[in-house]
Amino acid sequence: MDQLSSIVVDIASVPACLLAVDLLSGFIHWAEDTWTAPGASKLLDQWVVLDNIEHHRKPGTIRAGHYWATNRVCIALALVVGCALVLLGVHAWQAFAIVALASQSNHVHLWAHSANPPRVIAWLQRYGILQSPAHHGEHHKRPYASRFCTMTNYLNPVLDGIHFWRGLERVIEGCGATMWRASAARQGY
Ligand SMILES: [Zn+2]
Ligand SMILES: [Zn+2]
Repeated sequence: MDQLSSIVVDIASVPACLLAVDLLSGFIHWAEDTWTAPGASKLLDQWVVLDNIEHHRKPGTIRAGHYWATNRVCIALALVVGCALVLLGVHAWQAFAIVALASQSNHVHLWAHSANPPRVIAWLQRYGILQSPAHHGEHHKRPYASRFCTMTNYLNPVLDGIHFWRGLERVIEGCGATMWRASAARQGY
């Protein structure tokens, strides 16, 4: 690859990495909301499920936690994946950029619940480069079945528009799984 092509690839990689993390956040969030019921695993309850249910009930409380409480799960997962990339001999900076961005994805989510985020974050939210409060607010409507991606404003309209998550749920239900989200909505979660 000549130097110009490699510069073009590097520049194009920046939004591509952000969208990759947006998609990743969507998958993880969708899986949490749709398939993880409380009571199945103590470990999952403690680290993921109960916090997630609490967040739907009281979205504003995400602002009350300190930095580590907000980001510990994403940072722990990112460290595991980052170490695996090093051990596998991956050199592409994009892979590490995705992992680093993903480690902060819940903080981007927190800013989408903040009336006064740092000025640079508010500017990025205005253009949807980071997810805006208005965009994320649509997810917080029962039965919490759309806008699962939490990094930007760009992927959700596409994925919701083509009924991506519904299609995936139909395939998984076809394999015999029971959707937690449907019963959760009936139970008033
Ligand atoms: Zn949710
Ligand atoms: Zn939220």
